[in-house]
Amino acid sequence: MSVPPLLLAGGRLPGGAAPVDVLIVDGLVAEITAASGSSTGRAGRDRQLERIDLDGRFIVPGLWDNHVHFSQWAAVSRRLDVSAARSAAEAVALVGAAIGAGSAGGEVLVGFGFRDGLWPDEPTAATLDAVAGSRPVVLVSGDLHCCWLNSAALAHFGRDGHPTGVLREEDAFAVHRALDDVPAETIDAWALDAARAAAARGVVGIVDLEMAWNRSVWERRAAAGHDLLRVEFGVYPQHLERAIAEGLRTGDEVDEAGLLRVGPFKVITDGSLNTRTAYCFDEYPGLEGHADSRGLLTVPPDELRALLERATASGLVPAVHAIGDHANRLVLDAFETIGCTGSLEHAQLLALTDVPRFAALGVVASVQPEHAMDDRDVADRYWAGRTHRSFALRSLLEAGAQLALGSDAPVAPLDPWITMAAAVTRSRDGRPPWHPEQRIPATAALTASTRGAAVSIQVGAAADLAVTEADPLAADAATLRAMPVALTLLAGRPTHRAL
Ligand SMILES: [Zn+2]
Repeated sequence: MSVPPLLLAGGRLPGGAAPVDVLIVDGLVAEITAASGSSTGRAGRDRQLERIDLDGRFIVPGLWDNHVHFSQWAAVSRRLDVSAARSAAEAVALVGAAIGAGSAGGEVLVGFGFRDGLWPDEPTAATLDAVAGSRPVVLVSGDLHCCWLNSAALAHFGRDGHPTGVLREEDAFAVHRALDDVPAETIDAWALDAARAAAARGVVGIVDLEMAWNRSVWERRAAAGHDLLRVEFGVYPQHLERAIAEGLRTGDEVDEAGLLRVGPFKVITDGSLNTRTAYCFDEYPGLEGHADSRGLLTVPPDELRALLERATASGLVPAVHAIGDHANRLVLDAFETIGCTGSLEHAQLLALTDVPRFAALGVVASVQPEHAMDDRDVADRYWAGRTHRSFALRSLLEAGAQLALGSDAPVAPLDPWITMAAAVTRSRDGRPPWHPEQRIPATAALTASTRGAAVSIQVGAAADLAVTEADPLAADAATLRAMPVALTLLAGRPTHRAL
């Protein structure tokens, strides 16, 4: 598809003061030159040239979110927001207010975003029953590892008689999959809205780790004209043999437009901090002596090694979820034993001796800095005495690890500026920074949010660009977090334009 050459006139590069003109030809950055300053310059010589005046705005590489659950993110905006609940009772009250009195039957009401790690009371099916009656209600936790159902929903999802209505890990994921099973046209319409919103934040690409056979989902969307984002889609163990049979290798292009690629092979080896299922060396305070007091290891080492061997032998690069320090140790061990590279997703709590192993093994630390802002209080409680080595982005960086930033949307918003601001400031809502020694420089945060491994755009590279109102390398915390984006280009084609 040919588009006319485009001149971005009078922009600035991050950290730079002198304006430049950027010429884009055939979707590539063709030239970066000192700004001519005249609208009759290059544009006057070539009538086919389209010109956008940037008036000193900043041009940065297009942004990537390296860890997204896209259909869930698209659906969350349609769900009841229960993230503000500070107790089970408050969550129940939010559900009650949404439903109104005397509800009978009806479609499943889905709420999202509760964080029960510090709640004083226990979530139960019975308390939801009291406000929801026979209307099925499912509340999904903010970290996705837990679902809280009322009795009608338990019956609806075949879990009749469950003692508490609180399902964790694989039991919860099974409910997610059922919830995500809405008509394709519906979820695709939501996905298009979500893609538009992402483009408006300067996003050009995502790694979609939705728990589904993502190839057919994204091929369907591409056929319907979705072309606002590059997508690398993940493959899960339940689809590994199918992926191999179809010859999918990480990095392969699977569509004509070149926007859709095979992403990593995703394995989840432990739970999460909020659910107290992240697999740790130490016991969780308050759970001492209980079964699973150190969290849950959902894929034991020999099973993990077998999966990684099978995947890597077939050209699929692993992306392995580990949150607790023991789970991280075991995943690094598996990478070392097999001798393959890949990414470690989350890496939230690390033994200090494991920090240098990322660089030594060539394992990317795929991290979600905003989780530290959501979870700082929970971490202070459940990882007390260990938080100096949690979300340790600076330590990883100084040890030579390659960082890749992401949101894990819907756990945090799909907005790389929120992600970068959390990494750079370790603070939110006016609170003092949490472990400020783990802040990373803005250059590192921006680099880890792009694919070019640089903060500046490069001649010869795809013209995946974002134009911002402020310099991301010099912006204060509030500006960085809410960075206004004036223009987003995907291979030279505007996917968002507000100038
Ligand atoms: Zn995730």
